[in-house]
Amino acid sequence: MMQIFIPLNFLGFVYREMKGALANIEKMFSLLTVKPAVADTPGAPSLQVREGRIDFEAVQFGYNDSREILSQVSFSVLPRQKVAIVGASGAGKSTLFKLLFRFYDASGGAIRIDGQDIRSISQESLRRAIGVVPQDAVLFNQSIRENVRYGRVDATDEEVMAAIRHAQLADFVEQLPQGVDTLVGERGLKLSGGEKQRVAIARALLKKPPIMIFDEATSSLDSRSERGIVASLQEIAREQTTLVIAHRLSTVVDADKILVMDQGRIVEQGSHGQLLEQDSHYAMLWRMQQQERTPVMGEESPEAP
Ligand code: ATP
Repeated sequence: MMQIFIPLNFLGFVYREMKGALANIEKMFSLLTVKPAVADTPGAPSLQVREGRIDFEAVQFGYNDSREILSQVSFSVLPRQKVAIVGASGAGKSTLFKLLFRFYDASGGAIRIDGQDIRSISQESLRRAIGVVPQDAVLFNQSIRENVRYGRVDATDEEVMAAIRHAQLADFVEQLPQGVDTLVGERGLKLSGGEKQRVAIARALLKKPPIMIFDEATSSLDSRSERGIVASLQEIAREQTTLVIAHRLSTVVDADKILVMDQGRIVEQGSHGQLLEQDSHYAMLWRMQQQERTPVMGEESPEAP
């Protein structure tokens, strides 16, 4: 998902960029991607985010002419809703994110934020409005505190600590020898996939963009990390419009809406309860994941709400 193969020397360049003045996770995200396929129209105005509503209207897209990847994709995310996207590998989930971030333009239909077609506004303002929690967050050989502060360099220590608490990292940090000043990365502590993603969530909470896109790590998480991720996601979704690519259905049971994708189409949408009632694609995925789940001592089995 959004994984790009890049030469190591380019990564070195990216790292130096990051160590420099920027400290802006979205800039890193855009640096890591292939060269932009779209350009601003001259004098494009800035996006005006009033509420944070997102509309995909009959969106069509292919990376090349020979194959359509998204067909007639329509859905709305209302302000401060949490919408989850689920579906098999290759269904087109991260392509939706790439279009929302405007790495590419749709070949048909439109994507609007608070009524503004994203092709008509500046890319800089679009990306400023969207926070990204990627699958593989990049951490630097610095303290946890500084890694979180990349979300907003002028944040106070108190704000950084609040973000750490809201990302459900406080208990973990307290156990570390130097607390928030513990170094992470190559020369410091190695964090698990779930812990790294919670650092990325803390960064995003500190930045507080009106729209948040979250690409859940596919790596296996222990049940504690998984619960931590679910809780920190709830924290994000409380105030921000949130779109989540979910691989574990435990992350989505409380979503306002779940979009089920298959071969570039939305084949079902609704709440967890509604989709279970329909007893179709989602219900089948849910039953499969319930069977796969290995019981962990002391853990309650997940129930449908
Ligand atoms: P996964 O869960 O495995 O990440 P996904 O649902 O996010 O899958 P996408 O990454 O959106 O799926 O990919 C949808 C389709 O588009 C796939 O068939 C993929 O091979 C193709 N695709 C993705 N990126 C590109 C690209 N840059 N150029 C050409 N085809 C691509």
